[in-house]
Amino acid sequence: MPFGKVLIANRGEIALRIHRACQEMGIRTVAVHSTADTTAMHVRLADESVCIGPPPARDSYLNVAAILSAAAITGADAVHPGYGFLSENANFAEMVEAHGLAFIGPRPEHIRMMGDKIAAKDAMRRLGVPLVPGSLGALSSLEEARSVAGEVKYPVLIKAAAGGGGRGMKVARSEAELEEAWRVARTEAKAAFGDDSVYMEKYLDRPRHIELQVLADGYGNVVHFGERDCSLQRRHQKLVEEAGSPVLAAAERDALGAQVTRALKEIGYRNAGTLEFLWQDGQFAFIEMNTRLQVEHPVTEMVCGVDLVKEQLRIAAGEALGYAQSEVRFHGHAIECRITAEHPETFAPSPGRVGTYHAPGGLGVRVDSALYSGYAVPPHYDSLVAKLIVHGATRAEAIARLRRSLAEMVVDGIETTLPLHRAIMEDPEFQAGDYTIHWLERFVANRT
Ligand code: ADP
Repeated sequence: MPFGKVLIANRGEIALRIHRACQEMGIRTVAVHSTADTTAMHVRLADESVCIGPPPARDSYLNVAAILSAAAITGADAVHPGYGFLSENANFAEMVEAHGLAFIGPRPEHIRMMGDKIAAKDAMRRLGVPLVPGSLGALSSLEEARSVAGEVKYPVLIKAAAGGGGRGMKVARSEAELEEAWRVARTEAKAAFGDDSVYMEKYLDRPRHIELQVLADGYGNVVHFGERDCSLQRRHQKLVEEAGSPVLAAAERDALGAQVTRALKEIGYRNAGTLEFLWQDGQFAFIEMNTRLQVEHPVTEMVCGVDLVKEQLRIAAGEALGYAQSEVRFHGHAIECRITAEHPETFAPSPGRVGTYHAPGGLGVRVDSALYSGYAVPPHYDSLVAKLIVHGATRAEAIARLRRSLAEMVVDGIETTLPLHRAIMEDPEFQAGDYTIHWLERFVANRT
């Protein structure tokens, strides 16, 4: 047993996901929650729970002092941050460790390095990982932006160094649009992250978003668990993810995996991480690294037969991986639909009380959700309410399974994106695996 008691510094489906892994390993769990989440499923299922503040996240799920106090009071010996909230906050990871607790995630220095996308790209460039062409560092002036754009050619993308969630990102299709993109990206970045440093990348016209899941034990053992194709996005946010990618050959995966694991070994990376790439014309270009468990991790678990959260717990407790790359096998195909409490056409948020909730089941079906009948989805947090994940022997079987699971699933009382997912699954281009990162925006526009 790696730990006696783990505090889960999160809410919703991911808090449940972590609780389930702990429970199966004989580890007790502590849930923390805001006053808006008193009746939430993660609070109901955890062995213990502590209220850490009022509904706004900055006063509760981002309240470091309250979370550390909750860990001290309950005698927890480790903290799992999940995704979002404090998961990529290097200062939080440092404070957790300074309090004698294990942080279930990477070393603070790596969280810090990858949190600054300019530093991350610089590190990857030195390690020989290919990048999207663009500025070598932060842009110091509009004049510099103009000159870099002249070199890489329009369209270009201005991106926030501290970016996340698609914010602080603006396209300029010609020199006439550059000044506006420069100004808006910096203003957004300043407002969202308190940091207006921006850099430039060539804006690729038809890439796929392909990312690689990695685990490292901190003793020099690094393995990858293949790729996820997350090209189905709206406003740079993922909606549907697949493992493996419908377009990637095994040899391409192996080559990328070898390059990435070598790089992470060199920097002494530890725990789980994901390297994100854009893939176009058979070329990979690194865009960023996420130093945490990701929303879409289940599709990897389904094809590799691995429990990534249990692996994170073992690694955080100082255990070695205990297996080699050659022992990681890929079976069949998995697809995940992110179901959010939003109107399926306008995407207006739709919090409120759920009437009937019925989850689909059967062979190869997994639902990660904190919903239950009668639960009131609070308006204060992320709108993700359920992840429907299916596994099939082939991609065609996975799609058929997803169609029948989406037909079985019921969430009434609130609007959800279930109808949108049902429509995507009927689309011949999706069925053929023929899509880029721009496909879903057009699909959504054509529906309304
Ligand atoms: P964030 O951290 O805000 O999510 P990312 O750098 O991960 O930002 O990019 C999010 C998405 O934006 C990518 O998955 C991709 O769809 C799109 N994107 C990012 N960089 C580029 C680029 N250079 N060209 C085209 N699309 C891009």
